[in-house]
Amino acid sequence: MDKIVRIDMGAKGGPKISTEPAGEYAGLGGRATTSLIVSKEVHPLCHPLGAENKLVIAPGMLSGSTGAMSGRLSVGCKSPLTGTIKESNAGGQAAQVLARIGYAAIILEGKPEGDDLYKIIVNKDGVKVEVDNSLKLLDNYPLIEKLRGQYGDKVAYMSIGSAGERLLLGASIACTDPELRPTRHCGRGGVGAVMGSKKVKAIILDDAGCKHRAPKDPDKYRDANRKFVEGLRKHPVTGEGLPAYGTNVLTNVLNEAGGYPTYNFKTGRFAGSAKLSGEAQAELEIKRGGTATHGCHRGCVIQCSGVYNDKDGHYLTKQPEYETVWAHGGNCGIDDLDTVARLDFMDDNFGLDTIEMGATIGVAMDAGLIEFGDKEGAIRLMEEVGKGTPLGRVLGCGAGITGKVFGVEKVPVVKNQAIPAYDPRPIQGIGVTYATTTQGADHTAGYAIATNILKVGGDVDPLKTEGQVELSRNLQIATAAIDSTGMCLFIAFAIMDQPETFQALLDMLNAFYGTELTGDGVVELGKTVLSAERDFNKRAGFSKEDDRLPRFFYTDPIEPHNQVFSMSDEELDSVFNW
Ligand code: SF4
Repeated sequence: MDKIVRIDMGAKGGPKISTEPAGEYAGLGGRATTSLIVSKEVHPLCHPLGAENKLVIAPGMLSGSTGAMSGRLSVGCKSPLTGTIKESNAGGQAAQVLARIGYAAIILEGKPEGDDLYKIIVNKDGVKVEVDNSLKLLDNYPLIEKLRGQYGDKVAYMSIGSAGERLLLGASIACTDPELRPTRHCGRGGVGAVMGSKKVKAIILDDAGCKHRAPKDPDKYRDANRKFVEGLRKHPVTGEGLPAYGTNVLTNVLNEAGGYPTYNFKTGRFAGSAKLSGEAQAELEIKRGGTATHGCHRGCVIQCSGVYNDKDGHYLTKQPEYETVWAHGGNCGIDDLDTVARLDFMDDNFGLDTIEMGATIGVAMDAGLIEFGDKEGAIRLMEEVGKGTPLGRVLGCGAGITGKVFGVEKVPVVKNQAIPAYDPRPIQGIGVTYATTTQGADHTAGYAIATNILKVGGDVDPLKTEGQVELSRNLQIATAAIDSTGMCLFIAFAIMDQPETFQALLDMLNAFYGTELTGDGVVELGKTVLSAERDFNKRAGFSKEDDRLPRFFYTDPIEPHNQVFSMSDEELDSVFNW
C-alpha cells in the first residue's frame, strides 16, 4: 500500500491514469485516508455530482494482511445527500484485494462528457479504464453475473446499480462477498451517485500474483492476532450473540428498551417485533437451508451475517441486518421477514441504502401514499425506484426529499440523512451522536447503544442527560480511529470491555508498522480525522445550528417512556471541545 492511483475521468481524450507515492498518507488507511484527502483536495462548496468532487476509495491500515476482521473498505467524498464530508464503509472482499495489489487509495476525479459508461480494472500490472456501454442500467446482481463471465470468480467487484447511474441520493456502492454476491454496501450518503456521476459502473480488483501484506515483525503480529481473536471469541456479543443471530439480535433488545421506532417514529415498541427478531430470523434461515452465521469477508471471525433463502429454499438475499429489518419492518408497521428480505434484495440489486429507503417508505406511508403495514405497497414503491419513474426518483433521493415533496411535517433526518433504528428520546446518547456527527444521522459514528443499552464499556442511563456528551465524544473519537484501521466496527464490543483485547489490537498495529502506538495515539488519530471532517463541513457552510435533531424529537414524547430528547444546545455544542 505504498502508492495512490488517480483517474481523471474528465481528461481531454478520455480518462487519464497517474500513479504517485502514498506520501503524507503512508501508514494511514480507511477513513483517515479518505477524509484527509477529501478535506484537503475537494472544494467544500462544489456540487457533489460535479467535476470538482472526488471519490476516494481506501482499504484500512491492516487490510490485505492475515489479521482477523481487517476487511473494511472506506469510500469518501462530499455527500450529495447531506452536503457534508462523507465516509461510508463496507465489508466484502474489496479492501483485502485492493490492499494486496498495493494501493493505499484510488481517487476518481473529474467528470466525463458524453454518455459512455466505464469500468476500471486493477491488477498487479496496473490500472486500465475501458468503455463498456453493455453494462448500462444493469442492476447489481445481473451486472456481477455478466462481469463474472468475463473476469471470473477469483476477483472482487465494486459496482453501482441503476440507482447510482440515475444519480439518486440514496445510491450505494456494492462490494462482493466471498461468494461474489453484491451484498456488502457502502450505503450511506449517496456515494453511489458520486460514482455514477463519474460514469464508473464497476471496478474489478484482481490480486492474482500478489501476496498478503507482510508485517514488519511477523512473529509479534501472529501472536497479537491470536490474542485478538481469542478476545473476540470470548466476549458474549462478538463470540455468541452476533454469530448466532446477527445484528438482528437487537430487535428484541431495543423493543424491550422502548427505543424501537415504529410507524415512522411514533411509538417506541412494535407489537410485531417477535416475528422480526434475530431469533426468528435465524430459525427460519436454518430451516430453509440457508445459514445464520457467515463472514462477509475472509478473515472475519465474528461472522454476523447469514444467507436468507425463500420458501422454496432458493437464495433470496444475505441475512438482512438489524437496521434493515427495522427500516423495512417495524418502522413501516410490517411484521413479515419475507417482505423485509425481498426489500433488502431490491435495495442491494438497485444499489440503495437500506436505512434511507426504509425511512423513506415510512415517510411515504405518513404522507398517505400507502398504509402502514402494506407489504405489497412497500414493494411497489421500491419497484418505482428500480424503474426510475418520476415517483421512484423522488423516493430514491431519500426521506428528506420525499418529506418535502409530499408535505410531511415530521421527517426523521439530520443533515438530510435518515435517522436509523434507535429512537433518540429514550436513548439520549445516540441522539447526541445523530445530532453532532460529521456524517449526518449515523448510529455507527458513535454507537452509544453499546453503553446506554447493552452496558458494554460501562453503564450510562439512556433516559438521563448526564454522561451522554462524554460518551458520544469518546465513541466518535474511537470510531474514527477504528474506521481507519480497516477493522469491522463490531470489534468495539470486545475492545471496550476487555483491556487485553484492545492491547492486542495495538500490538497488531505496532507489529505491522514497526511503530509504538499507544492508546493515546489512537485517540489522537481519531481526533485528527474528526477535526479534518469538521473543518470541511465548516467550510461547506455548516454551523452548530445544523447539529440539532428535528424539532419533533424535542416536542413529541414517545411511549412507553413518554420522553422527549432533552439534551441542551450548549451540551451538544460541547461534544467536540477537547
Ligand atoms: S462481523 Fe459481520 S460486518 Fe463485521 S466483518 Fe464479520 S460479517 Fe462483516
